Order: sequence, then C-alpha cells, then structure tokens
Amino acid sequence: RAKDQGRNMYQFYTEGMQDKEVMRLELDKDLSHALANDEFILYYQPQLDLTTGKINNVEALIRWQHPRRGLLAPGEFIPLAEESGRINDIGRWVVRAACKQLAKWKGTPYRNIRIAVNLSGLELDDDDLVGDIQAALKAEQVPPSSLEVELTEEIFIQNIEHNLNQLSRLRKLGVHLAIDDFGVGYSSLAYLRDFPVDMLKIDRSFITHVTRRHDDAVITRAVINLAHNLGIQVVAEGVETQEQLNFLRHHSCNLAQGFLISRPIPPEDLERALEEGLLFTGVTASS
Ligand code: C2E
Ligand code: MG
Ligand code: MG
Ligand code: MG
Repeated sequence: RAKDQGRNMYQFYTEGMQDKEVMRLELDKDLSHALANDEFILYYQPQLDLTTGKINNVEALIRWQHPRRGLLAPGEFIPLAEESGRINDIGRWVVRAACKQLAKWKGTPYRNIRIAVNLSGLELDDDDLVGDIQAALKAEQVPPSSLEVELTEEIFIQNIEHNLNQLSRLRKLGVHLAIDDFGVGYSSLAYLRDFPVDMLKIDRSFITHVTRRHDDAVITRAVINLAHNLGIQVVAEGVETQEQLNFLRHHSCNLAQGFLISRPIPPEDLERALEEGLLFTGVTASS
C-alpha cells in the first residue's frame, strides 16, 4: 500500500485521489444543473444506406455544453450520470429532444429520417421508461417508427426477463431496436432469437482493420449473414476509409456510419450537408 512506502508517497497518493474525487464531485454537481440550464445538445451522425446511397437514418449523440469546460463528449459524463442515477432524466431529455427534431423535420425533405437514440441499460430498470417514450412521441406527434433505440449487449446478461418485457413493449409501440457495439459484449447469441431486434451495429473494433485482417473480415461477413438470415439489418460503425465502405457494400451490409461519411454534427449542419449534397456517399465513377 502507498502508506507503507513512506510519508511522501502516502501524501502524493491521497492528494492525487482527492483531486480526482473533487473533480468528480464538482462535475456531478454541475451535472445536477445541466438539464435545468439547458446545457445538453444532440449531435447527429448520418448512416449511409449502401443500397440506395441515401441518408434516411441518423444517430443522436449527446454533448454537454459545460459553462467552463466547453463541449464535453458523453464519455466524460455519462458514466457519472449512470452512477448517480441522473441517467434516467438525461435519457428522457434525449428521447424528447429527438422527438422534437423529428417534429421539426415533418413536411421537409428530411421527413423520412429515422433517429436512433442511445439508452443506457440502467434505464431499462425503470418501469416508466416505455410509457414516457410513448408520451414523448405523442406530445410531438411523431410516429414511433421514426425512433430507434440503441442498447448494448449488457442488457442481455442480467434482469433478462424484465428487459425482454420492456423491449417487447417498446417494439409493440413501433419503436425500432438496435444492438449497439455488437460483438464485444459477453452475452450469448440466444437473445437474437428471444428479443425483438431490428438492427445490429457491428462494433468499430471489427471494422477498423476489416480490409487488412482476415479474422476481422471473416467475423464481419459472418455477422452480416447471421443478421440477414434472422431478418435483422446491419450497420457498420466507425467506417473511415473508402476501402472499408467498398468491402461492406460488397458484402451486403445495409448501412455504414463513420467519419468517412460524416462526424456527428449539429442538426443545422446536417440539414445543410444533406441539402447541398455535401456528404460523402462513396459513389464513384466506377460504382
Ligand atoms: P456509440 O453509441 O457506439 O457511438 C459511436 C461513437 O463513435 C460516437 O462517439 C461517435 O462520435 C464515434 N464515431 C463515429 N464514427 C467514428 C469513426 O469513424 N471513427 C471513430 N474513431 N469514432 C467514430 P461519442 O459521440 O463520443 O459517443 C460515445 C458513446 O457515448 C456512444 O457510443 C454511446 O455509447 C454513448 N452515448 C452517446 N450519446 C448518448 C446518449 O444520449 N445517452 C447515453 N446513455 N449514451 C450516449
Ligand atoms: Mg450508439
Ligand atoms: Mg456503437
Ligand atoms: Mg461504441
């Protein structure tokens, strides 16, 4: 233990710990005001339909406009929000904000866009979740099929019965369900049989070297085939090169998402990019 290694060491260790803990507490306190202060925003990252070359799907990714620290990525505050339980309120805000965006896009060229939102598995514990999502859709008068919910495989490890029930209710509403970061979780494949899944998102770690590593290519092709044989669509995450895009299209992956097509951007930027045809679609003279 640090304590046994002399006084200086001990002090250094505890001060470091304190700094970290102080920062954490401070951020948690800021987080408690963030909703009331309207400090969250949703960025949108388009998903390219590899069959049509069109964009009809986007993923909403939360950002926190922190009053002193600038724009924070979810990795800097979502884990904290999960620990404190604030994730439930944040998740409700995300769903409502996405519904508002869908309502804004009604009657515009973007009316067919579906928005995927990320939910933390913890949010499924709350029995009010499905009712609240339904209420948000109704309040903004948007069809449930315009909304997709992304969850990671962790939800298939614990509380399986309860989670299955929640997801079935959500799917019955007409909301689409996607499994995020597919392939890196610890769950069994049995859930693909038992849960009403619409979409698998192949984790970025398989896509990064998919054109250079045989094993990643084999896994990616197998996931696409497995999903398609079960009537499930596939999104590839983290597509950064034209070669990856070509590979995915060649192997009948449905959608591609990644920096090659676009980074996550504010809705106004997305609208402008769509309007002006600025997004990369991978359509070259030869394809
Ligand atoms: P995710 O849902 O798997 O989202 C994809 C992440 O990968 C995003 O990071 C996105 O910016 C990044 N990404 C997309 N394309 C590429 C690429 O080509 N290359 C690389 N290197 N990265 C790419 P982001 O926005 O920082 O979000 C991180 C994670 O935070 C998300 O992973 C999701 O798990 C979580 N998250 C985001 N928004 C929310 C939210 O509203 N609620 C909850 N509970 N979690 C959220
Ligand atoms: Mg996601
Ligand atoms: Mg993901
Ligand atoms: Mg991820």
